[in-house]
Amino acid sequence: MSNDGQLEDNLRTFEKDARLSEAELSELLGIAEKMLSGGTVPCTACRYCVSRCPQGLNIPELISLYNEHAYSGGGFIAPMALSAMPEDKRPQACLQCRSCEQVCPQQIRISEVLADFTAKL
Ligand code: SF4
Ligand code: SF4
Repeated sequence: MSNDGQLEDNLRTFEKDARLSEAELSELLGIAEKMLSGGTVPCTACRYCVSRCPQGLNIPELISLYNEHAYSGGGFIAPMALSAMPEDKRPQACLQCRSCEQVCPQQIRISEVLADFTAKL
């Protein structure tokens, strides 16, 4: 959870003791499997990494675009969004210093993700 709105939404969801049906659970697991097999990265947008980046990169936003690009099999959305950013805030501005990776609770290899994003673009 990243803000009060998400916290309140989760509290509303869990105040009812309503379990998922088998069909709902199966559908959710199917979506998760599809996302993982598509090469996406499990960033939760906690933003712990952001203050560690000497380049001032918005790492969760870049990873979100990386995931969109991977999940959709490419396409125009990520390139279009990146083209609206200053060049020094795009994935290729990453210095590969790995400072961000020391605080990522998901243990994401951010430097490798951004290098792969650059290569795919
Ligand atoms: S590895 Fe890249 S994204 Fe991570 S802190 Fe260094 S410059 Fe920023
Ligand atoms: S610390 Fe990890 S999980 Fe959190 S925003 Fe950064 S990359 Fe995503």
